[in-house]
Amino acid sequence: MKYAFMTMDVESFYDIECFKGKKIEYKEEYSKEESMKGYIDLLDKYNIKGTFFTLCSSLKLAKPYLIKAIENGHELALHGYDHESPLSMNEKTFEENIVKSKNILEQEFHTKIKGYRAPCFGILDSYIEILKRNGFTYDSSSLNFHLAINSGKVDLESYERLNRLCFKKDNFFEITPNRVRAYSGHLPVSGGGYIRLVPWFVIKYYIKKCIRHTDCYMFYVHPYEVSKNKVPKLKNLRFVEWLFIRIGRKSYLRKIEKIIKYLKKKGFEFKSLGEYAKEA
Ligand SMILES: [Zn+2]
Repeated sequence: MKYAFMTMDVESFYDIECFKGKKIEYKEEYSKEESMKGYIDLLDKYNIKGTFFTLCSSLKLAKPYLIKAIENGHELALHGYDHESPLSMNEKTFEENIVKSKNILEQEFHTKIKGYRAPCFGILDSYIEILKRNGFTYDSSSLNFHLAINSGKVDLESYERLNRLCFKKDNFFEITPNRVRAYSGHLPVSGGGYIRLVPWFVIKYYIKKCIRHTDCYMFYVHPYEVSKNKVPKLKNLRFVEWLFIRIGRKSYLRKIEKIIKYLKKKGFEFKSLGEYAKEA
């Protein structure tokens, strides 16, 4: 069986990593959680159940869309209280953070939270133990990619490998994004801006290359990436950062639809991560 997972990290436009440490004025009209609607509609059109890793700090604007998503059978999971990387916390503050945030989501949406993705993929083995003892059954934060210099690391060698992306240890699952061999290293082909920035024929080439060797594909996206609305004027950004934020947003939903169609054609079955972890 070949599986595909569609995931969204529900956070504000202002949570973009390169904004950190820069003085950028927050304006609700640019926060962009409303862009979730088009993405949820797209998943519903293909009867795909997605996973929404949510920040508590985005609830004010994202809540109505998340209610709709849960009603339609999508899975709610945790991304954190706000977008602070767990790597800047100690174990005690990390545990307080996830317990508080999990409780908020469970009370607001009357659903059980089983999955976690760390902001900035900042995960460590010791944090996995904390997730386990607080009722989580899976994590999706391990980004094994050489350019991801600020992410954490999980010792996947000690896990049983279920397929290309999914690992299991003591009934806990680690589900990682894809990467594909290219040039002298690896390229991520799960999202993170790379898919948005690059033309479809290039993406198709790399996804084709990727799924030739894999029985599993994961996609991840953020609300601002699928927003057709303009972004605010931002000072103090490097040109490459400016490009990374602005390019490809208007056509991104169409590109995501092409990925869905392509994977369906290749026989991939779409599941939420929670659904997969429950059945594996
Ligand atoms: Zn994030």
